[in-house]
Amino acid sequence: MKIQFYGAAQEVTGSQHLLSINGKKILLDCGLYQGKRKEAFEINKNLPFNPAEIDIMLLSHAHIDHSGNIPNLVKSGFRGKIYATSATVDLCQIMLRDSAYLQERDVKFVNKKRLKQNKNLFEPLYSSEDVEEAMSNFIGVQYDKAVEIAPNIIATFRDAGHILGSAGISIELKENGKLTRLGFTGDIGRTEMPVLRDPNILTDLDILIMESTYGNKLHPVIPEVEEEVALTINEMVESGGKIIVPAFAVGRTQMLVYVLHKLFNENRIPLFPIYVDSPLAVNATEVHRLHPECFDRETYRVFIDNHEDPFGFNRLTYIRNAEESKALNDKKGPCMIISASGMAEGGRVLHHLKNNIENKNNLILFVGYAAKETLARKIKDGAAEVNILGDSHKINAKIKTMDYFSAHADQKGLLDYLKFSSPQKLKNIFLVHGEEEQSLPLREKILSKGYENVYYPKRGDAFEIS
Ligand SMILES: [Zn+2]
Repeated sequence: MKIQFYGAAQEVTGSQHLLSINGKKILLDCGLYQGKRKEAFEINKNLPFNPAEIDIMLLSHAHIDHSGNIPNLVKSGFRGKIYATSATVDLCQIMLRDSAYLQERDVKFVNKKRLKQNKNLFEPLYSSEDVEEAMSNFIGVQYDKAVEIAPNIIATFRDAGHILGSAGISIELKENGKLTRLGFTGDIGRTEMPVLRDPNILTDLDILIMESTYGNKLHPVIPEVEEEVALTINEMVESGGKIIVPAFAVGRTQMLVYVLHKLFNENRIPLFPIYVDSPLAVNATEVHRLHPECFDRETYRVFIDNHEDPFGFNRLTYIRNAEESKALNDKKGPCMIISASGMAEGGRVLHHLKNNIENKNNLILFVGYAAKETLARKIKDGAAEVNILGDSHKINAKIKTMDYFSAHADQKGLLDYLKFSSPQKLKNIFLVHGEEEQSLPLREKILSKGYENVYYPKRGDAFEIS
């Protein structure tokens, strides 16, 4: 068997790994690489393999850094099936459409200038039509049901507890009479998270491709976090400030809404207006409502069994419309505006940051991971001034980060992932989806537990395993 790493290799975006087994080529994830615009476009456009030669694709979950280049894959000649859980298929439908829309819009904007300068015009990476075409390749599968994806290759999707529909994929294969079990974690969620079940750890693995986003971090435990959210909100409501939350539209937003709803029900926070301002988040919430089979027991106990919608309550307003979004600028505090994108690289949150970041009464609350070079990262890292939508802004607002909502396992969660695969059996571990300062300390920890051959591959690295 051969494994090649083409993305999320020594970085956190563009997840893409290629397996060659019994003459079949199987692609794990086909994520969008996110980074500096021109470089990202080139990397995404020029797939590092021939898409027509790929037989099958397995998708761990719908996040764009795992699914976002699928329309380009199909457009460039891939004709195989794409296996993912049913909830992932539904999420991909809205997320890939959104991705195409953003790309078409950005290209239109750039082309306007280029036209005036008599320069050649750009094409988007893919269009809405390409997304519709790609969606016809998807096959929705159930959790825990073994699927024979090719002769002697069986895949089973296990709940990864990361976002709705997310899965760790166990692949059992027979090559030259030898049975091997390979695990691909996708992104690993956390135990005790709102809405979702705990990660269902893959067992008895011989080979593991594992994410390592928070390989060198420990998250706070949940009751403290609910308390912290309550404290933060109570303080802000008292002072009358606005709370701006840049949050990923899918997953993070629903979790935050769930916690706020619970805190309201328990009278731990006062009634004050909350807005979810992101069309994608509104659509993603609809998809969540369609897939209660993915919810954990707690969600049933606290909400569903009482005929309550976990994602809706009377002080919460979902906003799709651009005019209503603009009207939020004139709203006085206290209020909370949850808006995408989480890394503040685009989307309506940029307008809210621009309008509120200079006011010392406001709070910018980060609830997720921010990759290097992103606006969210600069603000989190304590910049005094940042550029937002072309203008420089002083940061006077309070800044706070709650990593708990990040939805990625921390170092302990990642090490726990190994507990059902002994060092005697699990002989090859590949750490992906992590920056050096996170992945390398994790590697040391794994080695100290007796596992051998723990690799941290870079983009383009290939490994033959017999
Ligand atoms: Zn993810």
